[in-house]
Amino acid sequence: MDDFPPYPSGLRLAGRPVVVVGGGHVAQRRVPALLAVGAVVTVVSPEVTPALEGLVGAGEVTWVERGFEEPDLDGAWYAIAATDDHDANERVSAAAEERRIFCVRADDATRATAWTPAVGRHAGVTVAVLGNREPRRSAAVRDEILEGLREGTIVARHQRDRQAGVVLVGGGPGHPDLMSVAGRKALMEADVVVADRLAPRELLGELPSDVELIDVAKLPRGRSAQQEEINRVIVERALEGKLVVRFKGGDNFVFGRGYEEVLACREAGVPVTVIPGLTSPVAVPAVAGIPVTHRGVAHEFTVISGHLPPGHPESLVNWAAVAGMSGTVVLMMAVHNAPAIAEALMDGGRTGSTPVAVVCDGTMPGERTVLSTLGSLAKDIEAEQVKAPAIIVVGGVVAVAHPQHFS
Ligand code: SAH
Repeated sequence: MDDFPPYPSGLRLAGRPVVVVGGGHVAQRRVPALLAVGAVVTVVSPEVTPALEGLVGAGEVTWVERGFEEPDLDGAWYAIAATDDHDANERVSAAAEERRIFCVRADDATRATAWTPAVGRHAGVTVAVLGNREPRRSAAVRDEILEGLREGTIVARHQRDRQAGVVLVGGGPGHPDLMSVAGRKALMEADVVVADRLAPRELLGELPSDVELIDVAKLPRGRSAQQEEINRVIVERALEGKLVVRFKGGDNFVFGRGYEEVLACREAGVPVTVIPGLTSPVAVPAVAGIPVTHRGVAHEFTVISGHLPPGHPESLVNWAAVAGMSGTVVLMMAVHNAPAIAEALMDGGRTGSTPVAVVCDGTMPGERTVLSTLGSLAKDIEAEQVKAPAIIVVGGVVAVAHPQHFS
C-alpha cells in the first residue's frame, strides 16, 4: 500500500469538528491553519504551549486537559496525532482508523491515512504540495509556485470575485522589485493597463497578450488635454465592465494627478481603489544611500515640486519659508529650475555650502548620484549634464551619507 501516491483532495472543514491530540509545537503549527479554514478545533493534551493557551483563552479552541481517550474522536471529521509519544500517536491513529476518520501523524507519516501538504494561497488560489514526505522539497515547490503567481510568470487570471472598475497602482521608483505585491496582483488581473513613462516598464512585458495596454506617452500632448483623455479612457473602459489599472511611477497621489482620476471615476459612478506605491522622494535617496531624516540632523523633510520656478505667478510654494526651516528639502521635477531654486533657498538663509545630492534614474540601471552644494548646483548640473528624472536632496543628511566629500 505504501507504494501508492496520495489522492489529493481539498477538505472543506468549516463548521466541522477536528481533533488535535497533543499540545506542543506541532499542534501549535497546525491549529491556526485549521482555524483559518473554519474548522471547529478541539485540542486533547495534558499541557499546551502558551500560544495554544492563548487561542483557548480567546475561545477559538476547546481544550480537553488530559491524555487521549478513544471516544475523543467520536463525531470528528479529521484528526491530527501530534504528540511526541509514538505509542499515543499509534492509539490515536488506530482509534481514527476504526471510526474511518482520516488522521495525520506527526511521528510516522508512513503509518498515517492523511498527509499535510505545504500550503500557500494567492488571489483565491490554494496551492498544496505533497513532496513525497520531504517537507523541505514540498515547501520549496510551493514557494516557487506562489512566486510565479505573484510575479505573473504563472498566470491565474480572472478571480471570480473580480469587479469592474479602476485601480490606481503605484509602481514604485522604477525597479520592478520595488513594487508592492498588491500592485503586481492588480496588474496581472487587469483587462486594461494605462501606463505612464515612469511606471516600471519591464513589468508591462509580462502582461498577458490579451491585455489592452494604453501608453500615456503616446496620447496627444499638452498637460490638460492628456489628463482629460486619460480620465475619459479609464472611465469608458470601466463602464464597459473591464478592470482598468492606472499604472504610474512612485505613488499616484504624489505629483501624479491621481486624485483627479479618482474624482473622474466618482463622477461617473465607477468604483475606484488605490494601491499605494513607494514614492520616489523617499525611495530614490534611500536606494542611493541617503536618508531623508537622521537623528540630530533633520527633524523634518519637505517634498516640493520644482516644475515652476520661484516667483512664478502660479507657484504655491513659499520658498522663503522653506529656506527658513532647517530640515531636508527634496525636490522633484526640478532639474530645469534647480539654479533658480538654489538661489531662492540661499536668499532665504540657507548657506551656499549646504550639501546637495542629485540622484538621476534612481533604482534603474543608469542610476548615478551627483554631489554638489547649493552654491555650485547650477554649475554642476550643467557640467554633469543632469537630465530628468532626478531627485534633488538638499541638507545635512547628504553630508551624513557622504562625510568624506563634504569634510
Ligand atoms: N508619482 C511619482 C512622482 C511623479 S513626478 C512618485 O511618487 O515618485 C516625476 C518626478 O519624480 C521626476 O521628475 C523625478 O523628480 C521623480 N522621480 C520619479 N522616479 C524617479 C527615479 N527613478 N529617479 C529619480 N527621480 C525620479
